[in-house]
Amino acid sequence: MHTTAAAPIAVPEVFPQVVPFARTTVRLHPRAGAPTAGQSSMGGPLLWPTDEPWPICSGPDPYDHSDIAPAAADVPLVPVLQLFAEDVPELPFPAGTDLLQVLWCPFDHMPWCSPRPELRWRSRDRVGERLEEMPAPDQEAEDRHLPDSCALDPERVTEYPSHDLPREVWSQIGDAVARVQRESGWQYDWDLAVAPGTKVGGYPGWTQVPDWPECGCGATMEHLLTIAGWEFDRGDDKRWLPLEDRPAMAGWDFDADDEHPWRRIQNPAGLMLGDAGGIYLFVCTRCPDRPFDYRFDCS
Ligand SMILES: [Zn+2]
Ligand SMILES: [Zn+2]
Repeated sequence: MHTTAAAPIAVPEVFPQVVPFARTTVRLHPRAGAPTAGQSSMGGPLLWPTDEPWPICSGPDPYDHSDIAPAAADVPLVPVLQLFAEDVPELPFPAGTDLLQVLWCPFDHMPWCSPRPELRWRSRDRVGERLEEMPAPDQEAEDRHLPDSCALDPERVTEYPSHDLPREVWSQIGDAVARVQRESGWQYDWDLAVAPGTKVGGYPGWTQVPDWPECGCGATMEHLLTIAGWEFDRGDDKRWLPLEDRPAMAGWDFDADDEHPWRRIQNPAGLMLGDAGGIYLFVCTRCPDRPFDYRFDCS
């Protein structure tokens, strides 16, 4: 169980202007584990049909894979996330599918020098004979882009936008934000708005100015999920650190040795995306084949 603490401030009463922007996000709470191909996971084995070739990086463009030399070809993608409809029914599954898989090329791709993700939507029942062993990652791939195997524990949390809050609304709540912070120490954008970490739906965990992709049909795409290295910023996080994890955080410090449990709670998959950044995946739900795009940023 992973439980996010209730908001310490009654947001709808104190900041009524943000209520129309409320969204539910599904925090996935990855933690080290040994999930099977039949379970939702981060960095775990995928339910993959033996008769479907494993995906290979569809090709470095001239400035891609700059983090290895010479530029590798035929790089196998690595499993990043697998989500079954029974665990996260909120996902916009195309008709006839009940499984979403996210893989990425672990080498840097332009334009953001980040891993490049791909999606697969499947039906569990149509996989048939499944691949027993996932291909090994490319030997040159760096650990920081290879998610360690984690089990998931989805939890629904209400979010309000911070970077995505319209400017005019910011100016309407500015005085209340300052007063709450002065009187209680709680910060709207850090503690009350957008949940950090790997999650489905809600608002992207931007660390920079929002940059929502547009679909070819003209619609702004929807935030599908965020893959983040860090589940929260610091060990003294007062809001987003799950209640059940708090005892194990005792004595945490940025300088604590690698064995201290706080590191595996804060960064369970062992990812480092730029400087503690995230990769944000988007889909168009108006188009039945779910066109997809992604963004990357970091602090
Ligand atoms: Zn690649
Ligand atoms: Zn579209």
